[in-house]
Amino acid sequence: MFDVARSEPEHVTELRRQLRRFVAEKAPRERRRAWDRAHTWPRDLYGELAAMGLFGLTVPEEYGGQGRDIVAAVAVIEELCRAGPFLAGPFIHCAFYGGLNIAENGSSGQKSELLPRLARGELLFAYGLSEPDVGGDLSSVRTRARIEGDAVIVNGAKRWCTGADWADYIYCLVNSDPNAPKRQALSFVLIPARAPGVTTTPIEHANLRYTASCDVHFDDVRLPLGAIVGGPRKWNRGWEMLAGRALDVEKLEISAVAFGIAQAAMEEAWTYAQERVQFGKPIAAHQAIRHKLVTARTRLEACRLMLYHAAQLAHDGKPCAAETSMAKLFIGDTGVEIALACQQVMGAYALSDAYDMERNVRDLLGMPIVGGSSDMQKNNLAALWRLPS
Ligand SMILES: Cc1cc2nc3c(=O)[nH]c(=O)nc-3n(C[C@H](O)[C@H](O)[C@H](O)COP(=O)(O)OP(=O)(O)OC[C@H]3O[C@@H](n4cnc5c(N)ncnc54)[C@H](O)[C@@H]3O)c2cc1C
Repeated sequence: MFDVARSEPEHVTELRRQLRRFVAEKAPRERRRAWDRAHTWPRDLYGELAAMGLFGLTVPEEYGGQGRDIVAAVAVIEELCRAGPFLAGPFIHCAFYGGLNIAENGSSGQKSELLPRLARGELLFAYGLSEPDVGGDLSSVRTRARIEGDAVIVNGAKRWCTGADWADYIYCLVNSDPNAPKRQALSFVLIPARAPGVTTTPIEHANLRYTASCDVHFDDVRLPLGAIVGGPRKWNRGWEMLAGRALDVEKLEISAVAFGIAQAAMEEAWTYAQERVQFGKPIAAHQAIRHKLVTARTRLEACRLMLYHAAQLAHDGKPCAAETSMAKLFIGDTGVEIALACQQVMGAYALSDAYDMERNVRDLLGMPIVGGSSDMQKNNLAALWRLPS
């Protein structure tokens, strides 16, 4: 594993040490391979992570958390990704989809009810943004919510709703006013994943196999008004929540996954190239391989700097829409370059399930797509930097 010069708080460095030991001991390659084949994640280890207090890193102290420590939470994702997505994924479902969103956007009732449980790791959220006909163009969601007396009624369909089959709540983007301009017609509602009228169907996919992502149908799902994220006064104000500070952190969280997995790929190829001997010397002594490794490691370092620079800005509450978009764009795309280079270094063995490379490549190929594609980040940046459209 690489030692890199970091300027980070001591408690983050200590957290990394703890998590590296944890991952090395508890998530060995055979277990990772078994989870990947079964499309599942380890509940027992999740419980141990909760006992370490990790889920409180996105929850204010007054609600039982450790305070909003974005740099530490991003470092947790990075370190857990040494085991692939199997621990980092569920961490994100609780600490980011749940803790961060509710801390940022929830009503006072939602905060006092949900945040203490999220800080203890007791609740898992799924993110219901994408739909069968809606990917990047999120303001066009068709899942429809209407208020009838003291209830909210939801009808529609979400796609790629990862974790909907085991999460407690779906944090769901809905159209709440079909007659209003798109961005004034959005709301978020918290839908208990097993409420009457909710059905989930798993989707088979090649990447992020800590679970099967899901199609979800809402058929006259009836919720109390308290299910509106932020409370009834936030009805039709979902765009602000979608495009606000929570989005900056969402971009960081997926960037951290891409970075962590790229790092794992890099470390595996680095070690392999020193052990594999061809033509009388380690393949790392052949120039073609040395250059691939050095280029990949240099790119990885650039990713690290972008990720933690953006994370520090978010942590400090400073504007960071451009920095988080640049991080998502650069790390997503560079992660693919690192994956393909490291795959070449390991030759045939990169295609075998005896190593992690095969899975890491699958996961990295998806990174420029999920959580706001690279093209969408370019669009965001062009708009932020006021290029004409
Ligand atoms: C394993 C997995 C898990 C996922 N988990 C979740 C989840 O939990 N919750 C959730 O809501 N979603 C989830 N997603 C969905 C994911 O976030 C979307 O795939 C992503 O937002 C892109 O949407 P799309 O694939 O429908 O692409 P589209 O939006 O259809 O785009 C297709 C292509 O066209 C390009 N494109 C589209 N519009 C433009 C434009 N205006 N300018 C330039 N290029 C453009 C895109 O960049 C892309 O290359 C998951 C996806 C996968 C594969």
